[in-house]
Amino acid sequence: MDTKISIDNIRKSFSRNGQRLDVVDGLTLEVRDGEFVAIVGPSGCGKSTIMKMISGFEQPDTGAVRVDGQVAKGPSPKGIVISQSGSVFPWLTVRENLMFGLNQGTAAEKHRLADHYAEMVGLKGFEHAYPRELSGGMLKRVEIARALVVKPEILYMDEPFSALDALMNLRIRDELLRILQEERHTVILITHDVEEALYLADRIMVLSPRPAKIQRSFAIDAAHPRKLSEPRFQEMKDAILAELG
Ligand code: ADP
Ligand code: MG
Repeated sequence: MDTKISIDNIRKSFSRNGQRLDVVDGLTLEVRDGEFVAIVGPSGCGKSTIMKMISGFEQPDTGAVRVDGQVAKGPSPKGIVISQSGSVFPWLTVRENLMFGLNQGTAAEKHRLADHYAEMVGLKGFEHAYPRELSGGMLKRVEIARALVVKPEILYMDEPFSALDALMNLRIRDELLRILQEERHTVILITHDVEEALYLADRIMVLSPRPAKIQRSFAIDAAHPRKLSEPRFQEMKDAILAELG
C-alpha cells in the first residue's frame, strides 16, 4: 500500500524559564494509506506537540512531515483534527454544525448530507438541537460527524475521547469502527489509553518518556482489532504497559 503520511526525524524544543526543553526528539513514522495508527504515551510526554506537527499546525525545528509526498507547510486541506476539547459551535444546531464545512451543493443537498451523518453517529432526531441540549457523548458524536461529513482523507485525533466516561467511550469506539469500515480514512490517534489504542488501531507506536520518540511498535495481528482474543488483548496490553514503564 502507498505511504500517506511520512514523518521524518522531527524534533521540537521549547524554551522555558530560559532553559531549553526538548519535547520531541527524532520521531520517524510512515503511515500507509487507509491505515489506523495509534501513538500512545503518558501525559506530558509531548503527544499534543507531536500531533500539532503531524497535522501541520506547528512546524518541527528540524525534520519534515510529508502528506502524499509533499512537505506540509501548514495544516493540510486533506486532513481534519478532532481534539479533546472539542470544537462544536454553540450557536449552531447539530445540522448547522454539520453543514458548516460544506461548501458545495445546494442547500437541500447539504441538509441531506448533514442529516445522513447525524444519523450515522446516532443523532437522528437531534438535527435541530443546540449543543447546550446535548450530553458530552452526543457532543463528541457531533464532532465526529462534523469531521467526517467533509470526507477528509486523514483524521488526526488527539485524545478525542478522554473527557468521556468509560461506557460512553466504549460506545463511541464501536461507532467509529463501524463508520471506518464503511468509509476509508487514514487515521492517526494519539492517546494515553492503551485499551483504546488496542481496540481501534492497526498499529500502535509507544513513545518514550520526554523527549518523545517512538520506542517500540506493535502490529495488531488480527484482521480487525476487535477480533483480538481476550488473552491476546491482555497479553498485548501488558506488553505495551511494560514498555510505557
Ligand atoms: P501531552 O500532550 O503528551 O500531554 P504536550 O505535547 O502537550 O504533552 O506537552 C509536552 C511538554 O511540552 C509539556 O511539558 C508542556 O508544558 C511543554 N509545551 C508544550 N507546548 C509548549 C509551548 N508552546 N511552549 C512551552 N512549552 C510547551
Ligand atoms: Mg495532549
